[in-house]
Amino acid sequence: MGCDTNYYGNNKLKDITLALKSTSDALYMRNYLLQNLENAMNTSDPELRKELLTFVIVGGGPTGVEMAGALAEMKKFVFPKDYPELSFDEMSISIINGGDRLLATFSPELSVKTEKHLQNLNVHVVNKVFVTNYEDSLLTLSDGSSLKSKNVIWVAGITPNRIGGLDAASIHKNGRILTDRYNLVKGENNIFAIGDIAFIEETQGNPQVAQVAMQQAATLVENLNNEFAQKKVFTYHDKGSMATIGRNAAIAEIGKHKFSGFIAWAIWCFIHLISIFGPKNKLIVFINWVWNYFTYDQSLRLIIKPLKRSDCELD
Ligand SMILES: Cc1cc2nc3c(=O)[nH]c(=O)nc-3n(C[C@H](O)[C@H](O)[C@H](O)COP(=O)(O)OP(=O)(O)OC[C@H]3O[C@@H](n4cnc5c(N)ncnc54)[C@H](O)[C@@H]3O)c2cc1C
Repeated sequence: MGCDTNYYGNNKLKDITLALKSTSDALYMRNYLLQNLENAMNTSDPELRKELLTFVIVGGGPTGVEMAGALAEMKKFVFPKDYPELSFDEMSISIINGGDRLLATFSPELSVKTEKHLQNLNVHVVNKVFVTNYEDSLLTLSDGSSLKSKNVIWVAGITPNRIGGLDAASIHKNGRILTDRYNLVKGENNIFAIGDIAFIEETQGNPQVAQVAMQQAATLVENLNNEFAQKKVFTYHDKGSMATIGRNAAIAEIGKHKFSGFIAWAIWCFIHLISIFGPKNKLIVFINWVWNYFTYDQSLRLIIKPLKRSDCELD
């Protein structure tokens, strides 16, 4: 059942910040941010314009870093073409990160490189600071400071989705479902859990990444197909971690090897391209990437909103 965005008990943040956990979240965010740029263009109130052009990303993990890099690139290459009436010197992008460095699961060396690269892209990175409140566009921080923004992107962590019916003893204190190394839920004999939601007690869990979910699925399918006649134990083969920071820039850690800059970015592109489902999708994504790379442009910037069926008016 995977995970959902973690608001650490402050559930009102769910309605007033932007999440990035599902495809719906991503589409909503795109429309919301584009709409705010339109609003910034149409307002004559400089205070309001500043709030609309202030982008705050809460969380300095891979999602936060990738989001900041993407926004910074769009600020530089894409938005000025679309909104020539706006001065993008007014647009600011910040990462508020509770941890003491970005990308805490990577080596400190790569965290430093990432922070430097983001700073070169004019992203303001604040570490060791938590968001304490967000109300009426005012974001309050644990160091006593505050800033006004209409674009708060909440990517500060994930929490496992919950389901009733399981014994409390089957749930780890972090909310993940405890399993053995055959992915069998603790205390059950025919319920299995894999991926982000699962926590193998014996090995103290695995990272919540796609590779773990895919490898656990493959092992479990094998075991189920032969009805556990040749029980295969799950062992995670870490193929490496990577994050993209922007154009020609990424970091990658593969075994003992650490890469950054263009080479890491090329590896990132290759790995993500081959992971896309089906040859047609691979080809389309590849053509889009090449197009974006050479034209410095994104192809689709329509603001698409759902139609209300009752009154047939746009929301
Ligand atoms: C923005 C972002 C970027 C990421 N980038 C990377 C990356 O570059 N590399 C990487 O390895 N990993 C990445 N991850 C993590 C990766 O997406 C997860 O580790 C992976 O999707 C976990 O797979 P899963 O099947 O466990 O859960 P999910 O993919 O979350 O799937 C769980 C599914 O279960 C459904 N569900 C939930 N509750 C119920 C219910 N009660 N009944 C029925 N269905 C239910 C959910 O709707 C969802 O469709 C990223 C995650 C995010 C959010």
